[in-house]
Amino acid sequence: MTSVLSAKHFHDEQAAYKWVEARIWPDGPICPHCGGVDRIGKLKGKSTRIGTYKCYQCRKPFTVKVGTVFESSHIPIHKWLQAIALMSSSKKGISTNQLWRILGVSLKAAWFMSHRIREAMRDGSLTPMGGSGVPIEIDETYFGRMETPRPSPQRRGRPPLKRKRDWDKRAIVSLVERGGSVRSFHVENADKATINQIIAGNLLREARVHTDESRLYGDVAAQVASHETVKHTAGEYVRGDVHTNSVENFFSVFKRGMKGVYQHCAEKNLHRYLAEFDFRYNSRTALGVNDEMRTERAVKGIVGKRLTYRTASGR
Ligand SMILES: [Zn+2]
Repeated sequence: MTSVLSAKHFHDEQAAYKWVEARIWPDGPICPHCGGVDRIGKLKGKSTRIGTYKCYQCRKPFTVKVGTVFESSHIPIHKWLQAIALMSSSKKGISTNQLWRILGVSLKAAWFMSHRIREAMRDGSLTPMGGSGVPIEIDETYFGRMETPRPSPQRRGRPPLKRKRDWDKRAIVSLVERGGSVRSFHVENADKATINQIIAGNLLREARVHTDESRLYGDVAAQVASHETVKHTAGEYVRGDVHTNSVENFFSVFKRGMKGVYQHCAEKNLHRYLAEFDFRYNSRTALGVNDEMRTERAVKGIVGKRLTYRTASGR
């Protein structure tokens, strides 16, 4: 068996640039400063960095890194590609420590790279779901302690007297098109208003929705073509084709990865981890996407998603 990292672009910087350029600029280089495509020359010479072009329209140099998550990083691109391939092919994710050991970069760099790669994996073009007639399963789950637990309205910010299960945990809502893709949200509160908002922003009116019988989904029927529920409290998990098994399976992969691999995740970064798990689910093997194709998809996502160290670490 050949390793996922055996290709030349994972080891040779020149090959790495070429490989990324072919994916970001399928029709040839584009100047990120002025958008020019016609008067671009490749700069060569011992003192010139690999992959440097010059635009003779605006007279500025550039590389394929400009305007991407790789910009201003001193890590060689072939190492970035290794990191992307590893994160794309590990079902439950890959820890910063493991990346650090494999890539031979600093621990801080490995941490930063993994967050930038999660940004690249984030789906920026969100078209509404539910147009195909295939059921959309919606469910909520809780993961990890909130850093500032949500206040209780009756107790003026103090914890509620009767502690409901999960009251101090981070809430996640996911929508799964059965046999298709997932879209996850880290929400402040998993309540009816939040669910309604998510549905309004992500589902078509003709969508068919399946959920459990929770009160959170009380307004769903008014927003979409049909809403059917299974009664988990009564031990009913499947009724005909009505169930929420796909979204529950997604949550279980997510939780196993978060507990087993990542362990600690700052609340403000939770949406990035969700983007990572969404990305892998949406390009899973069952949909005909192999490790190589998944890596390519992630690389195509690097454009226009710069993330500064400050944004990620909050420092
Ligand atoms: Zn230019």
